[in-house]
Amino acid sequence: LAFRRLKVDKTVLRLDQNQPEFTRAIWKYIEGTVSRKRIKKGRKILKQRRSFFEKLTEIYHVPAEIILAIWAMESDFGANYGSMNVVRSLATLAYDGKRKEFAQNELLAALRIMVCENVAPKAMVGSWAGAIGHPQFMPTSYQRYAVDFDGDAKRDLWGSLDDSFASIANYMQGMGWNEGEKWGVEVSFPKSFDWQKYAETYDDNTLLSLDEWKKWGVYPLSKQGIKGKQFGKLFFPAGYLGPVFLTFKNFDMIKKYNASASYSLAVSLLSTGMETGKTPLKTKWPYRDKLLSHKDKLLLQMMLNGKGFNAGKVDGKLGAKTASAVRKWQLTQGLAADGYMNLSLFDEFIKSFRE
Ligand code: CA
Repeated sequence: LAFRRLKVDKTVLRLDQNQPEFTRAIWKYIEGTVSRKRIKKGRKILKQRRSFFEKLTEIYHVPAEIILAIWAMESDFGANYGSMNVVRSLATLAYDGKRKEFAQNELLAALRIMVCENVAPKAMVGSWAGAIGHPQFMPTSYQRYAVDFDGDAKRDLWGSLDDSFASIANYMQGMGWNEGEKWGVEVSFPKSFDWQKYAETYDDNTLLSLDEWKKWGVYPLSKQGIKGKQFGKLFFPAGYLGPVFLTFKNFDMIKKYNASASYSLAVSLLSTGMETGKTPLKTKWPYRDKLLSHKDKLLLQMMLNGKGFNAGKVDGKLGAKTASAVRKWQLTQGLAADGYMNLSLFDEFIKSFRE
């Protein structure tokens, strides 16, 4: 019945080619998602549902602010969880999407959910990519992590907020959330940082304790919840002159909800905002920076690969691998090796290859 009169959805295919996290400046993305309005709304809900969240935290050991921040990011507090036919979207992506096998697998899971949870074809709605309900779970995550928390014997991610919040908490617990630890902290970063020595001593993914970071001149800008021996690594979403962060293990747990580092930063900052009631950033973004076009990014990756810096797949997405390759190039030039590339540095980059 779910397949009756099903046709390819061209809108889905068009959207499959373009994901917004990767084409906007990070500060536009963060300011659009981590707004005062959202922080206020999150705090209001925390107050209203305090005893519910106390109960939830006792069971799943994931902070209420993280659950609410994910909910805010995924469906704008439930205001928009998608009204597209999940079966049609996934069937379209399985037929002609960028990740056919992934979509096929999700399609099968969607059909199983309809049977197990007794969901009518019309009610099986979600995003164009097939993400479902308040938490925007893909069907396989729904199967694995959805929880019936309100006790009506149905795992309902559309109609039940209790089920939705518990499901997000269950997912984060399943991913390995470390109770009592923060996602990370914004830091003050010294202009005199010894990049060369740092690169000789550690690699990009080495986690150092806050005490060790202080020896490198890196200090937390907030004391909120930062205690004990926490280990973090540097994160430069907009270079060392913009906001710099030490991210702890839980930052990577948030990435398991959505693999983009920008997304994880947005959830992190929203959760801190909901906790403190303040806009969470202390350092200004480099608003004046001009950024690379998609073509520039492809060229950057190709040239880095050509010189053996290993920027990974040439896909125009500047992820961790490209940043790591940029850092290696920056070190050869005696530059600050923060892995961040704006248009003026890109000019220098091109020039350095001509010499
Ligand atoms: Ca339920």
